[in-house]
Amino acid sequence: MSDVTHTPPAPEISLAAYTTLRLGGPAGTLTTAVHTDEAVAAVRAATAAGRRLLVLAGGSNVVIGDDGFDGEVLLLRTRGIEVAGEDDSGVLVRVAAGEPWDDFVSYAVTNGLSGVECLSGIPGAAGSTPIQNVGAYGQEVAHTIEAVHAYDRRADEIRVMTPAECRFGYRTSVFKHDDRYLVTAVDFRLARAHESAPIRYAELARELGGSAGDRVPLGHARDTVLKLRAGKGMVLDPEDRDTWSVGSFFTNPVVPAAFFATLGEMPHWPGADGSVKIPAAWLIEHAGFPKGFAGDGVAISGKHTLALTNRGAGTTSALLDLARTIRDGVHARFGVELHPEPVLIDCAI
Ligand SMILES: Cc1cc2nc3c(=O)[nH]c(=O)nc-3n(C[C@H](O)[C@H](O)[C@H](O)COP(=O)(O)OP(=O)(O)OC[C@H]3O[C@@H](n4cnc5c(N)ncnc54)[C@H](O)[C@@H]3O)c2cc1C
Repeated sequence: MSDVTHTPPAPEISLAAYTTLRLGGPAGTLTTAVHTDEAVAAVRAATAAGRRLLVLAGGSNVVIGDDGFDGEVLLLRTRGIEVAGEDDSGVLVRVAAGEPWDDFVSYAVTNGLSGVECLSGIPGAAGSTPIQNVGAYGQEVAHTIEAVHAYDRRADEIRVMTPAECRFGYRTSVFKHDDRYLVTAVDFRLARAHESAPIRYAELARELGGSAGDRVPLGHARDTVLKLRAGKGMVLDPEDRDTWSVGSFFTNPVVPAAFFATLGEMPHWPGADGSVKIPAAWLIEHAGFPKGFAGDGVAISGKHTLALTNRGAGTTSALLDLARTIRDGVHARFGVELHPEPVLIDCAI
């Protein structure tokens, strides 16, 4: 019996059921794949038929238009974590693309493998983490990814891509905004250690009662990150509408130092290349958009200024109206352009 199911969705089954925002209209067709070869076959079939393709895993970084996606939606549900090797430089762990990310982090922490503990509690699947080089609390997956296994639609072959080929940047990579590749698995190089990598993020170091550069037991790092995240509505909780979001809706803007000097006092992180990164949450609040600021059935989270949430009766169009209002308000106040972090599917701001 095949593990692939092709389901033309009934009109009442919309893509909203597959996104953490609980927004988005119907799919053309919906295919669920639990094995990698089935996922590749589905992508190949869509390519051959000239059909548009949308890969969805956790649906936690997509905003899908109210009219839905008139093409093939592939729900990736492959699972698996295996040790692929070990040497002096660490343990190589291969993770299937559909494996829930936090299950992998929990596995690493439980097995004394260090390098991803500060990425605890991030929703979505492991194979989605290279797409935007997922990061939080001073770690990003580019620090530990050794290779990305991907089906290349253009060449019709499976490739093993190096970090350089992935072109990781701040919340971006070669994979973002491009449907050329289906990520099938990711290799992480982790250190065999019971202590965390040095803590880089000041807020986390403070919460741990130490300072930046400290190492703490892996479990302690994970628990503390989960606690900090929960306080900001950044751990999924179906009962808490402050978590019905895509996490941060905007990236932190990066501006040239000369322009930054004209802006006046504000928190910032100086970059190595003379650029300056500014916290988008600070700009949004100081442009007059506090936590809880509401649109039509949507609102800024009551716990985090960067999260735009569906309060239950929202629509994608209302969410994007709110995003536009905030973006334009920040631009009018500071002259700084905010850019959305999630992938917008058949909709735009
Ligand atoms: C409450 C909350 C907190 C969050 N916190 C963070 C955070 O701290 N840091 C952070 O970086 N992000 C954060 N996010 C965003 C999101 O969780 C991550 O970007 C996550 O990696 C998305 O995974 P997903 O499986 O849900 O991807 P999806 O939303 O399913 O897909 C996202 C994009 O990747 C593509 N894609 C997915 N899988 C594949 C694949 N195998 N091959 C090719 N393309 C693929 C999709 O087509 C889509 O374009 C948060 C989101 C929420 C809701």
